[in-house]
Amino acid sequence: MSNNVPSRRGVSLVLAAAPGVGKTSISRALLALEPELSLSISATTRASRPGEQDGMHYFFHSPERFAEMAAAGDFLEHASFLGRSYGTPRAPVERALSEGRDVLFDIEWQGHRLLREKMPGDVVGIFLLPPSIAELERRLRSRDQDSDEEISKRMAAVRDEITHWDEFDHVLVNEDFAETVTAVRGILLAARSHRTRQPWLSGFVDRLLGE
Ligand code: 5GP
Repeated sequence: MSNNVPSRRGVSLVLAAAPGVGKTSISRALLALEPELSLSISATTRASRPGEQDGMHYFFHSPERFAEMAAAGDFLEHASFLGRSYGTPRAPVERALSEGRDVLFDIEWQGHRLLREKMPGDVVGIFLLPPSIAELERRLRSRDQDSDEEISKRMAAVRDEITHWDEFDHVLVNEDFAETVTAVRGILLAARSHRTRQPWLSGFVDRLLGE
């Protein structure tokens, strides 16, 4: 940006979907394309899955530690999902937004609702729908680390998550990976230029007209 065009406020982009819809791969592709976008790393009380690293995929905490952090106001939002707690650490998000960097949130519907309440005007919510439930169950079963019982619970959570589709600004059916990534990227690009994220505009226009 040039000297007389200050930085905009960052976009809080929430990408929500039932587990198995492809959120993680879409997030990864978007992060690779957009250097000004970073992923909010959540805290959770669930156990790490094989290949997951503390501080990279999640911050893994004991229920006691999580409760302490929640009580101290360290989370922008936190919610319970299948009996485990998940929360968004506050400080990195506030810093990024105020420095004009965008943040991507991979969170479920309750978290999206809470973020919208906490940060009205900041959040752009995208909900991804699966093309079919049968395909989604197949994908969940192919993640072989989850037990049958866990998969049944997740399928119930899938149906519950989907009922919240109409709380989001944008809804995409994830039929084609590349098309979905392009659509999500387009939504981010449009959000960046929203008038309300560029509070410096009125002064800038005044100067333009005064030239
Ligand atoms: P998983 O256990 O499969 O990694 O995540 C389960 C669900 O929790 C997913 O829908 C995921 O988007 C959501 N989730 C992950 N982090 C957070 C968070 O910080 N807050 C909320 N509200 N949900 C989260």
